[in-house]
Amino acid sequence: MQNVEVILANFKRAYSGSAEICQSVIKFYGDFIFTKSPELSRLEADFEVDHSTFNHALERISTTIGFGEIKRRFKKLNLSPEWPQHLPIRLKSGTQISGYIQNVFLSFPLCIGRIAQEEKDIFGFEFVDRSEDILCSILPRIKNTFINSGQVLKSLKRVGMSTYIYGVFHEKGHLFGNISILLKPYEGLEFGYALPAFREYMADLTAFKLAGELPDVILSSFFQRLYWYSQTKNNYDPDKLCFLALFNLVHDCFLRGYASDKLYIDLNRLVSVLANAIDSVPHLEMSDSPDKLQKWWSRQIKLFEENGSSIYREILKDRALSWSSGSAI
Ligand SMILES: [Zn+2]
Repeated sequence: MQNVEVILANFKRAYSGSAEICQSVIKFYGDFIFTKSPELSRLEADFEVDHSTFNHALERISTTIGFGEIKRRFKKLNLSPEWPQHLPIRLKSGTQISGYIQNVFLSFPLCIGRIAQEEKDIFGFEFVDRSEDILCSILPRIKNTFINSGQVLKSLKRVGMSTYIYGVFHEKGHLFGNISILLKPYEGLEFGYALPAFREYMADLTAFKLAGELPDVILSSFFQRLYWYSQTKNNYDPDKLCFLALFNLVHDCFLRGYASDKLYIDLNRLVSVLANAIDSVPHLEMSDSPDKLQKWWSRQIKLFEENGSSIYREILKDRALSWSSGSAI
């Protein structure tokens, strides 16, 4: 496990100097807690820092939104001005990689069973090649489902960069409000699924607000949630519930075609709704009450069943899963 300390030291050194990352190869040899793997997963693999994605992402943010504006947005959301310590990496070689296969990121110090005391203790790695694999696997389904799939696919051209920027902002979003992972590192059992799922939802809304001018960042995440994370059989999975609450916001952006059995998706509206949704989230204080938070989720599930589930099933066709059957909450 000493290797983790080396990674942390090198990573911090790289960030404290400039935006340039000097270290190229990162070696993971140990047991890690991944969010999508049961218990501990052994990882024995070499990863390469994706300099190109890192530099292009920073350049893009700088030329489209600007770092001054990003800092203003951090401030408006009561976030610190610190840039998240999050690096894009790609698998180079490995003998034990199941954790990598099932996950798209690795977040420290949680993945080694430690709790961060301060923001500077938190750092992570985005498996950009895994997100690219997931997106590639769902592109044919997007093509088969939407009349305007060309428009969708055009926005998903640089998936590595889009998902990396999303990952950076999503991690920042985990420090938002009274659900910050720094304020409540230990989740009380009484919250059950409700708090982790709400944290996931709010981290996404924060990320979407920060990346408002970058539709590809919002869409690459949304389509992964729609075609990938919503499919898990576990109804209590935070990513699945997060998708459900997001879908409730945008279900009417999916329209049935008049002369085709395919659907039309209003991309501009979907992006605009998601980018501004955090402005209208009421009652953040409910996250202090397990009862209120669970009721909020029950309402979300009911809303989904009433308004969104039929169009969702049409998008996913026969592969759609139901929240109302089996182990519904
Ligand atoms: Zn998250």
